[in-house]
Amino acid sequence: MTQNTGAFEALLQEDRTYPPPAEFVANANIADPAVYEEARRDPEAFWARFAGELDWFKPWDTVLDWSDAPFAKWFVGGKLNAAYNCIDRHLDGPRKNKAAIIWEGEPGDWQVYTYRDLYREVCKFANGLKSLGVEKGDRVTLYLPMVPELAIAMLACARIGAPHSIVFGGFSAESLRDRIEDSQSKVMITADGGWRRGGIIPLKQSADASIEGETPVEKVVVVKRTGHDVPIVEGRDVWWHDLVADQPLNCEPEQMDSEDMLFMLYTSGTTGKPKGIVHTTGGYMTGTYATSKWIFDLKEDDVYWCTADIGWVTGHSYIIYGPLSNGATTVMYEGSPDYPDRDRFWAIVEKYACTICYTAPTAIRTFMRWGEEYPNRHDMSSLRLLGSVGEPINPEAWVWYWQHIGGGRCPVVDTWWQTETGAVMISPLPGITTLKPGSATQPFPGIDAAILDEQGNEIGPGGGGYLVVRKPWPSMLRGIYGDPERFVQQYWSNYEGIYFTSDGAKLDEESYFWLLGRVDDVINVSAHRISTMEVESALVDNLKVAEAACIGRTHEVKGQAIVAFVTLKDQVAGSDDVIAELKQHVAGKIGSMARPDDIYFAAELPKTRSGKIMRRLLRDVAEGRALGDTTTLADPAVVEMLKEQYGDED
Ligand code: ATP
Ligand code: MG
Repeated sequence: MTQNTGAFEALLQEDRTYPPPAEFVANANIADPAVYEEARRDPEAFWARFAGELDWFKPWDTVLDWSDAPFAKWFVGGKLNAAYNCIDRHLDGPRKNKAAIIWEGEPGDWQVYTYRDLYREVCKFANGLKSLGVEKGDRVTLYLPMVPELAIAMLACARIGAPHSIVFGGFSAESLRDRIEDSQSKVMITADGGWRRGGIIPLKQSADASIEGETPVEKVVVVKRTGHDVPIVEGRDVWWHDLVADQPLNCEPEQMDSEDMLFMLYTSGTTGKPKGIVHTTGGYMTGTYATSKWIFDLKEDDVYWCTADIGWVTGHSYIIYGPLSNGATTVMYEGSPDYPDRDRFWAIVEKYACTICYTAPTAIRTFMRWGEEYPNRHDMSSLRLLGSVGEPINPEAWVWYWQHIGGGRCPVVDTWWQTETGAVMISPLPGITTLKPGSATQPFPGIDAAILDEQGNEIGPGGGGYLVVRKPWPSMLRGIYGDPERFVQQYWSNYEGIYFTSDGAKLDEESYFWLLGRVDDVINVSAHRISTMEVESALVDNLKVAEAACIGRTHEVKGQAIVAFVTLKDQVAGSDDVIAELKQHVAGKIGSMARPDDIYFAAELPKTRSGKIMRRLLRDVAEGRALGDTTTLADPAVVEMLKEQYGDED
């Protein structure tokens, strides 16, 4: 039996490799691997070069001030405006009439905003916010569906220096109330409703409920989207279209300090109570601009689609700030991927001739389960690059995505990052990196990511442990809103002066990074520290399996036993034979110590509203505990069903 060294064991082998296609390399924004060494030698100069590609009202004096670590200051003394960088600077040339945002509503309505249109609408709404008394520094809560007004409102906030706090439209009134109170927002922007699977999400109703009684919110702006009747509170509520009707078409952008807060945003809550993460202006814009340019290889004629909701950090950084600061065309879609049918995403790709598509493993696994017939209905030859974010991507899902969505032609960039990191941290550069399915490959140039054991020793190739970042980076979080102690405690106290990600990872022999999931999710079987991700990927490797989630339950002899919850592709419950086959498959693929003790079949797995598997709730189910925080759970019925099933069979 191996000693428990406090590090992860690296189990799963994956030998497939995909070098960048020659044509991609020939045209890539960056194809010279020397950038890695260059950034390593002088990371501050590397970042400053990207910052210099933004527009500043006043240049910075110092690139980085780390004297008050872990409270970083980047581009100290510089002044800029995020909205100006996303819009105004594109207006003096051919981009002026270029599509900035292509928006499609779920019912099939669509709209194109050129950069000039976006400028006008953002200025009008910014003036509207000012008329409601919003001033620089005031927080504004946005609780909206994926409509153009969401993009306009966030850029309007940025323009006048009022940090936005966006709350995903799928959240309940109660979750919204918590976030409004935490951020002390004076104004909330919402809509009558949004379309989802042909029905209406009653946003106004939740918005009203969230500010009943005592609340910091004085004014509510309401976008008319669905057009059904909603109560309007006299003196408090104002329709968006009334507010902007007579506003001037120009609004001077506020000259923000590089370290002024741009926005706050709550994490997904996969591991517990969400944290209000603070991002500032200069560093965040530099990070999202740089990573969008190099990882998504944005070009003048790209039609770039990130399928995330703007309510998550992915939408902030890679629907709005990153692509627009690059002057790109960014697509926004309001609704569900299976409305009116399961080919909706591919219909959108074909309709707008999207060239880049960035989505999440949870979606890819769902598409895989639905089958190839849906993408096969459409001409998707416009695509040239694919991306994945949100969870580790199982190698089988990666290969399916590459084959059936990318037509075997498009590099897949698996991007690891967090709300806290602001921008992508570990990812291929598609014109340089040879890809391996399931690996996020290499830290972005200038990012000093490493893997440590519990004592803080660096893990070399072939080992696994805790993923950390050793040097500050421009788009790093500046804190947890209103809670500096929790910030230090949560991220900076495991290792002195080093950012702790809470994720596990391993390094292969070529120093590629493989994300193994949350540190909290590691299973300890007979002193083997096994990553849930690897066992799950071994299960998904079986042709019958669509999705799997593994957890450890207490076991008298082994310490922990592996319990797997499995969703099959074409039926809900498998037979005992299937159970035996799956256990054998895992043992054969990665070793007998990883053989699950129990396998349960589930129609769906419990997920956060952002689509991540919530293993902590499965642990609660397996160990018969009361469930922890369930406010970010997408569908409470899923856990209830699992509880019943688990109770029956135990
Ligand atoms: P909370 O911190 O509240 O528990 P969360 O961590 O899910 O929620 P996010 O900031 O949205 O909130 O997600 C970041 C996490 O998502 C990462 O720490 C990692 O666990 C996971 N993740 C994101 N992208 C990838 C990826 N490409 N590969 C592996 N894991 C990823
Ligand atoms: Mg997290």
